Amino acid sequence: MMDFFQNVPKIELHAHLNGSLSNRTLLELGAMKYGKDNPGPSNDECFYRITNGQNLTLKECFQKFKYAHDLTDQPETLRYATRAVIQDFAADNVVYLELRTTPKKTVHMSKKQYLTTVLETIRTAQNEIPSITVKLLPSIDRSKGLQEAEENVSLVIELCQEYPDIIKGMDLSGAPFGTRFSDFGNILKKAQAHRLKMALHCGEFEDDDEIQAMLEFGTDRIGHGTFIKGVNLQNAKKRGIPFECCLTSNVKCSTASSYEEHHFKKLWEEGFAVCICTDDFGVFDTSLTQELRTCSEIFGLTTQDILRLQENTIRYTYANDEEKHKLTEIFNNFRKTMKID
Ligand SMILES: [Zn+2]
Repeated sequence: MMDFFQNVPKIELHAHLNGSLSNRTLLELGAMKYGKDNPGPSNDECFYRITNGQNLTLKECFQKFKYAHDLTDQPETLRYATRAVIQDFAADNVVYLELRTTPKKTVHMSKKQYLTTVLETIRTAQNEIPSITVKLLPSIDRSKGLQEAEENVSLVIELCQEYPDIIKGMDLSGAPFGTRFSDFGNILKKAQAHRLKMALHCGEFEDDDEIQAMLEFGTDRIGHGTFIKGVNLQNAKKRGIPFECCLTSNVKCSTASSYEEHHFKKLWEEGFAVCICTDDFGVFDTSLTQELRTCSEIFGLTTQDILRLQENTIRYTYANDEEKHKLTEIFNNFRKTMKID
């Protein structure tokens, strides 16, 4: 039987570049950087286990972030990684992708070179892999402090002139501890003034005041939103702010105690704007196909529901009207082919 979940066109709005490197891509990057015979960074046991396709513990899964950062510190490997991620999403029948990444200064690249490399790769991919439309949401890592945040916003505003069709918004992510949103809010306002959308990680931990501040600031989408409750939750609903739900990521990171307890269930059943995303499919060993299948199995969504969920997600993208129209056509064609009304 044809696999509906694999074949249904999909939209991914919350995916971090470095967390979306498959094991195969990590290996290929390792060979590029360290050579074929010993692709892992210095006889690393965990990397060796990835090489041999062995099962990883959760702690070892998180090690993949470390490898990803190490292996994408040169323009060539960063280009290769970006291209591989786009290809993997396209192979999963993702037709529209908003990718996030924090510009990093390395010994081989400035932050500007980092972002330009990613942007140029996306631009080239639009011709070479036309089945998928890709946008970029450059991130600010909260844990890196305000000066880095200022730098990133200035850089993004500068690059927006050259890549207005690719840079569509910004993200705020990273460990929030010891930082206050209000400090970043003032910096992000500058990006907002340039009509960049705000797709902020919000409500990843319990802090009603911070969540309220983010809603008042005007976040356009909510990354995760696990701990949003009470008045804040009602406000999010009233304003129709979409929630980006990442089931496996939340369960594996233990911000949701199980799939069954995931807040997606309530959001879906109570008619919130909500979409399903992978967050870091490489790290958490999943795919958007897999997440939608889980959604159906755990929460009882029918294939009709899944299709509706994906079609609704078109509205939450930062695509332009023409692109949204094209996405709608893709889904209409899928309905016709599948003989679904
Ligand atoms: Zn995330």
